[in-house]
Amino acid sequence: MTEPDHQQFLERLDRSRPAVHAVADWLRWNGKAATVPETRYAPSFDVHKEYADNGDIFLANGRLVEVKHLTINFTSAADWPFREFFIDSQARVARLVDNVDAYIALSADYAAMGMVLPKTREHWYFTETRNGNTGKVVHNVACSLEHVIFRPFEKRFAHYCHCSKLGVFGVGGKWFCRQHCPITYVG
Ligand SMILES: [Zn+2]
Repeated sequence: MTEPDHQQFLERLDRSRPAVHAVADWLRWNGKAATVPETRYAPSFDVHKEYADNGDIFLANGRLVEVKHLTINFTSAADWPFREFFIDSQARVARLVDNVDAYIALSADYAAMGMVLPKTREHWYFTETRNGNTGKVVHNVACSLEHVIFRPFEKRFAHYCHCSKLGVFGVGGKWFCRQHCPITYVG
């Protein structure tokens, strides 16, 4: 793992944390025990491997719910802005899928979720996209929208920055908008 990869890894963790906690709160409100593991930061990229990223939310039976917070808004399949649904990176799917109960993508404004269940796995496929900034090829797993369950989410589970904007980063147990986030991610 290179330094830019490490920075992307840290950003991915911090950027997903408000949504992960919102989904965990929603699961608890629905009577499910949900635990968010405390994030352990790898102090630098060369020790990254010792700090494997092992799942977003653990249910009581030890199974996982994986959560992504999108930077765009949607309410249903009708206004979903992509051709397909990105489930996760190939590497993470390979490592975690046997333990995952649901892959969830939350709308930027928390108004809706798209959810893919592992029982649709035979319909998943590999994708290759080139990152516009880095030029690096990214390998993901995706599926078509007919395999996605869209439903409203509860906006009250959202987390907010002290300036009252939506929190899109979680750092040190606090929530921050992009402007007030105390960490500058590079790479
Ligand atoms: Zn703010």
